[in-house]
Amino acid sequence: MLREIADRREIQELKPGALRVGYQGEAGAFGEVAAAHGGNVPVAYASFEKLLDALGRGDIDEAVVPLENAIVGGIQEALEPLAAAVCAGLDLVATDLTSVAVRLALAVKGGTPLAAVKRAFSHPAALRQCTRKLADLGIEPIVCYDTAGAATVVAADAATDAAICSRHAAEMHGLEVLLEDVSDKEANSTRFVHLRHADHARAAVPLAFLRAASLTATARLDVLTGATLLPLAGNAEHPLRLWVLGADAARLQALAPVRDVQVISLGQPAAHAARIAPKEGTAPAVKAFPLATARRSPTVVEVGPYKVGGGHRAVVAGPCSVETPEQVLRIARQVAACGATALRGGIFKPRTNPYAFQGHGYEGLQWLVAAGKDVGLPIVTEVMAVEQVEKVAEQADVLQIGARNMQNFDLLRAVGRAGRPVLLKRGAGATTDEWLGAAEYVMASGEARVILCERGIRTFEPSTRNTLDLGGMLAVRPLTHLPLIADPSHAAGRADLVEGLARAAWSAGADGIIVEVHDDPARALSDAEQALVPARFAELARALGLHPDARLPLTQLRAWVDAIDHELATLVKRRLDVAKVIGDSKKQTGKAVLDPKREAAVRRTYAEAIAGSPELADKLVDLLIEAARKQQSIEE
Ligand code: PEP
Ligand code: MN
Repeated sequence: MLREIADRREIQELKPGALRVGYQGEAGAFGEVAAAHGGNVPVAYASFEKLLDALGRGDIDEAVVPLENAIVGGIQEALEPLAAAVCAGLDLVATDLTSVAVRLALAVKGGTPLAAVKRAFSHPAALRQCTRKLADLGIEPIVCYDTAGAATVVAADAATDAAICSRHAAEMHGLEVLLEDVSDKEANSTRFVHLRHADHARAAVPLAFLRAASLTATARLDVLTGATLLPLAGNAEHPLRLWVLGADAARLQALAPVRDVQVISLGQPAAHAARIAPKEGTAPAVKAFPLATARRSPTVVEVGPYKVGGGHRAVVAGPCSVETPEQVLRIARQVAACGATALRGGIFKPRTNPYAFQGHGYEGLQWLVAAGKDVGLPIVTEVMAVEQVEKVAEQADVLQIGARNMQNFDLLRAVGRAGRPVLLKRGAGATTDEWLGAAEYVMASGEARVILCERGIRTFEPSTRNTLDLGGMLAVRPLTHLPLIADPSHAAGRADLVEGLARAAWSAGADGIIVEVHDDPARALSDAEQALVPARFAELARALGLHPDARLPLTQLRAWVDAIDHELATLVKRRLDVAKVIGDSKKQTGKAVLDPKREAAVRRTYAEAIAGSPELADKLVDLLIEAARKQQSIEE
């Protein structure tokens, strides 16, 4: 039975900053939970078509649509209309994902015994989630437009039918819950995507839609792109289709021509923002490495008060070698003031020449520990031999495995048992697969907190010490949940190239960088040529958007704010230029020049970004809009 309900339009007062978020179903539906997420105001729609229409018209700010359920996979009822709307030209972007825990209660009118229940009403996707349980109970599933709607129907009809809905929906309609959860599997949940009109909103979740001539064209796409695939039935009119959640659109596009696949992407999110949780519990990306390439949400490694991975970015800085207590303390103070998140320093040095400085060993560790304590930064240091691991692990926050030891399997096992996060450098001659294999060794020995570090590989190019393999780093991104950082210092081997490589890695979405800093490079005991002096490190930190603190000299802090002003002013100018082009375009197409909905969207963008100062956000928008109007020469 499919019953249409009247759309509920009478919505609550909007709190400042709150959005009107539409969902399919009625009050008490699981969609309502997703829509209300983050304090927003849910608005009910009878069908997905009506919901998407409302979003297109601008009646609501956002829509939530269920993509995938933990038991039955893709939600066809939502995916099909979404595909149809996108094909028809509705310009959407995916801005967020919300996972809603699903407990499907079997609810009846008070006093109805279980034995009397012959039919259960619910949304078809919910009914599929309890196929087995209902069969066991001898209850016939009856399709209804919504779970909460099923409760409405059961409450109104004088029969012994049941509804399958949330406990909340059952209670709203005065029904009695006979069984708390009739899902076929425990831990049931549904993932909802938040959609906004592409006009002004920014994509944050990679979601694309594929038109493919055959299913084989899309085989292994999940492995190749690290994505979750949500297949659609397709029909004669539309060729086989597939939603792809979590794959980079550019990567899909690159695969498309060879695979006869047309890619329709819902916006292209910024590389770094696009780090979404892959579907949990499916096969690992690389079968041989089930831990390092497990499909799970990004691993966030917590190092002291800092985090790396899953959107948190680290900047590890310090000298190549710990040379004296004063040297490491001076450098620690400099990098900490610039906003570095951890202090590095070598105490056991892997040197090509046996007569070169080999490191101060455990004595150096004490100096490094003291410097870290002084500035409040966790410390990262390399261990070269199994017998060093236990003693170093007592005091170091992160154990580094150097490039030369990436395949020292006994050492990998030893650090895996040490109870400390591990920073694992890629060997200069190692493939990305071998690198993941090394991570698997550490993880298999018990340490889940592995940070992968690309530090340059050996190529034929002699102008740099190594070649920073950002391509390899990016290729590993969809395969692993582990944080990926880059080491521009050892890759370049020359100080003049470090900033450029660091910025490239950062822009490519690295979870962090590790960089060598020395305040007297000419006298450094190792890697003198590649060390940044503190002032150059400050410039890099500024370029990467780190937060300095008051330990930095005032003149340097001023340089910091000057750089921000320069960027800000340049951006304002760009905005004016583009606003002018929009004005020209509107004149050509005869479109209305003023659009209150767009203005509201702009205000929201600024209010969200400058959450601490709503007044400033509002004033900025006033000024920008006024200037844009002048640019567009609009007479009021
Ligand atoms: C180091 O970090 O000082 C070092 C020796 O690095 P790698 O192992 O990458 O050469
Ligand atoms: Mn070094």
